[in-house]
Amino acid sequence: MSHDDVIKKVSLVVPVFNEQESLPLFIGRITASCKQLSQPYEIILVDDGSSDRSPDLLTQAAEQPENCIITVLLNRNYGQHSAIMAGFTQASGDLIITLDADLQNPPEEIPRLVSIAELGYDVVGTLRANRQDSWFRKSASRLINLMIHRATGQVMGDYGCMLRAYRRHIVQAMLNCHERSTFIPILANSFARRTTEIEVSHAERKFGDSKYSLMQLINLMYDLVTCVTTTPLRLLSVLGSVIAVSGFVLAVVLIILRLVLGPEWAADGVFTLFAVLFTFIGAQFVGIGLLGEYIGRIYNDVRARPRYFVQKVIGAEQVQRNQEEE
Ligand code: UDP
Ligand code: MG
Repeated sequence: MSHDDVIKKVSLVVPVFNEQESLPLFIGRITASCKQLSQPYEIILVDDGSSDRSPDLLTQAAEQPENCIITVLLNRNYGQHSAIMAGFTQASGDLIITLDADLQNPPEEIPRLVSIAELGYDVVGTLRANRQDSWFRKSASRLINLMIHRATGQVMGDYGCMLRAYRRHIVQAMLNCHERSTFIPILANSFARRTTEIEVSHAERKFGDSKYSLMQLINLMYDLVTCVTTTPLRLLSVLGSVIAVSGFVLAVVLIILRLVLGPEWAADGVFTLFAVLFTFIGAQFVGIGLLGEYIGRIYNDVRARPRYFVQKVIGAEQVQRNQEEE
């Protein structure tokens, strides 16, 4: 282990969106788990514009002097990944661990993640053993993981599991990315030199429902794809060329057949032309849709709005004081 690999402090970053039922249990479990660590720690809870009692619960938790909790309140809902980024700006540890507040990622795994990161890894990912989600979500994830694998050549089995550990410099690099549509595990991997993956258990969601609607999942999927690659744009032009060339060949064949076989035959050919036409129209729509996805993101980045706006940070001084006393 080199000198740089020593972890002096651990930061936990947790995005919270309408999780009032799971929060008390979650805060209890994560605190208990962090107490097992040999390093000092801080727990950064980011409220992503919840409309339930979550902000109050988080504020209360941060105000308890014995807790090492920092609460960050965002003014509205920016989405899980932006909330995590907001948490990263507050994190001061050498190792930063993200996890969900819904207790699907067991907080008890934190000490194990830390000890594995100590072996010198930049990123410690996790595989969800016996994943407790719907069939639809699982198959979508499998497809996406395969796509990322193809696009990046990086072998990681599961990008969807947010229980992950990142070194300070990886987080710093992510904070220096000014794009707005990010998918943190993939972005992190693109900066990492040594990565590993461990298996963790996955629990069913006990309280409430997934905070992702179908539309948001689609959006997340596009974020994910555009985050790693612009290959779809290239595929589009390849596909377009193939269709154009075959359309041209078909037209030539049709003209020749018309000349050889006479006009009676050509009347039937009308339907072939229709089929060709529809193929073209379909391909154009696919193309326009894909272009739109990219242009939409370019537009968002060009506007260069801040990706979040922190209203208030609670408990930072308290944690600082606690640590100075130690
Ligand atoms: N989350 C968030 N903002 C959102 C949606 C979700 O901060 O807009 C948080 C949520 O509170 C939870 C985590 O992100 O801690 C994962 O959300 P969820 O469990 O709904 O996702 P799933 O497990 O279904 O992928
Ligand atoms: Mg969940």
